[in-house]
Amino acid sequence: MNLLELRGVSVSFDGFLALNDLNLQLAPGELRAVIGPNGAGKTTFLDVITGKVKPTKGDVFFRGKSLVGQSEHRISRLGIGRKFQTPRVYQNLSPRRNLELAVRGPHSPFDLLFSPLSSEQRDRVQHLLGVVGLESHAGQQAGGLSHGQKQWLEIAMLVAQDPELLLVDEPVAGLTDEETERTGELLRQLAGDHTVLVIEHDMDFIRDLQAPVTVLHEGHVLCEGSMEQVQNDPRVIEVYLGSETQEAP
Ligand code: ADP
Ligand code: MG
Repeated sequence: MNLLELRGVSVSFDGFLALNDLNLQLAPGELRAVIGPNGAGKTTFLDVITGKVKPTKGDVFFRGKSLVGQSEHRISRLGIGRKFQTPRVYQNLSPRRNLELAVRGPHSPFDLLFSPLSSEQRDRVQHLLGVVGLESHAGQQAGGLSHGQKQWLEIAMLVAQDPELLLVDEPVAGLTDEETERTGELLRQLAGDHTVLVIEHDMDFIRDLQAPVTVLHEGHVLCEGSMEQVQNDPRVIEVYLGSETQEAP
């Protein structure tokens, strides 16, 4: 069974179709890249999955159950985690402390401040610090981390809540080449245990992911395939890669 399935999803903003009969399936454990020019509907597509925007038409199924009409909070609890473009970490706390808060999940602030972690939770924090390569920065203020390190910390905080599906919106915008490469490695590593859907503009990054690519255009799936396949698809070249191809020497 598909972990996620969008069936004929349309979203109309005052008559303008941001999504137009969108169909998409994700298998459990899959890593999938979604690309598309500005305004293609990529963010709206994530908004529909997470319950922020309700489809005007169509349905979204997670593990075979419809998500339409469920609250964002409930959908997140079902196991769908979303990483926004700008990092949302507590700048004044250390990466370790940020992760300690994340592994406990939703609790009152009082619980968060005063209840001790179980040894399992402590192990999990340590493990996650290792996964994202922040062990040697575990105790310093998160505010002093590089932009890339903050992104990785936030990814670790999402993973701490053990979502089955991880939605990642433009994770490498503003990162150095080396950070970009490491982010790709991290997402590849997380796939398998999790299903990972990543939206990105950076073509080198997408190429390195070596994942199936879905191309969105005007709220609809234009084509799907390997990076090589979509790159050579004349429709894609026309709407998206055209300018890049022409700029190349
Ligand atoms: P992308 O993330 O691919 O750049 P978006 O999903 O943000 O695209 O937007 C798709 C289209 O829908 C754009 O033309 C955008 O202007 C429009 N749009 C997005 N959100 C709204 C909204 N709340 N109201 C009206 N139009 C919107
Ligand atoms: Mg967007």
